[in-house]
Amino acid sequence: MSTFKREDLKNLQPYEVEKEKYEIKLDANESFIEYEEKIKDEMAKVIKKVSLNRYPDGSCEELCRLYGKYIGVDESNIVAGNGSDELIGVIMNAFLNRGDTLGTVFPDFSMYKVYSQLLSINFKEIYDYTMDEIYVDLIIENINESKCDLFILSNPNNPTGKIIGRSDIIKLLKGVNCLVVIDEAYMEFASESVVDLVNEFENLIVLRTCSKALGLAFLRLGFCICNKALKNEILKAKSPFNVSGLSGELGKVVFQNREVIYENIDRLLKERDRVYEKLKGNKNLQCVKPNGNFIFIKSDYADRIYEKLLDRGIRVRNFSGKLKDYFRITIGSEKDNERLLHELLKI
Ligand code: PMP
Repeated sequence: MSTFKREDLKNLQPYEVEKEKYEIKLDANESFIEYEEKIKDEMAKVIKKVSLNRYPDGSCEELCRLYGKYIGVDESNIVAGNGSDELIGVIMNAFLNRGDTLGTVFPDFSMYKVYSQLLSINFKEIYDYTMDEIYVDLIIENINESKCDLFILSNPNNPTGKIIGRSDIIKLLKGVNCLVVIDEAYMEFASESVVDLVNEFENLIVLRTCSKALGLAFLRLGFCICNKALKNEILKAKSPFNVSGLSGELGKVVFQNREVIYENIDRLLKERDRVYEKLKGNKNLQCVKPNGNFIFIKSDYADRIYEKLLDRGIRVRNFSGKLKDYFRITIGSEKDNERLLHELLKI
């Protein structure tokens, strides 16, 4: 008897992260800013007080309340997750049947496809984001024509950094017949959020993460924001204690120090714009105007650039297949970016 019954997953590769250490790591869209000692001391104190023998609060009430204050939404509209990654799977489990259609754009965050495969959901890329312009009317038309049961989009988009404005997202929410998940993983670097509209639209779910602007990738904290009816369905599909108690406690410390978060975002944005200004206009590097903490670049020499940077201890993100002429750089510290610019502009 074969133990492997999922023939359809035969070609699916486990998600692998490069373990080799590079001096400068600009490949995973993490924040380059570490929390200062004062906050880490506060965290250490909090950790000392937890009861390790007890389960944490499975509904993460206090965590959601504090995060809700940060994004301006009531906690009753929020579900916490073990990273927003987990919540993508939970949402699909909650709302899609085997054989239903999930629509997204090309390119977008790779895990949308992985979860679709795991759940035997029909995955359809209904729009090409590598085109110069984004036509929202066409996106709406394609969602409807493809009879999508759920449409998911990262906005700002990873990896392109392109963004659809709030008014166009509203148009999309009104123009389609399906559930729409707007993954705002990078929205703190832009200002087109629709998170305040979750109670106005019965088909809107917003995803947020603490791994990017908040610089907490290590903790694995993400949030799903939606109306109460949708939340109730999502709760049915999540495991009881999905967020580690330690992560929850540490996250709360950061949410109580909101001024530090805003300072860090300001610093990151200044650095992003500085790097973009230096790169744009370079005839060998076609940069997409960034709306996240990374820059997406097209170049005939993409592969060569990637290899040369690696040789010099700098790891950026390269792509293959239809994106083989592209690479993506995460904005690093002022010092690391100087090194990167020096090497990039020399190639
Ligand atoms: N959505 C998008 C668009 C992302 O780029 C990422 C991480 N790269 C995630 C979700 C997942 O983030 P996390 O699980 O760390 O919250």
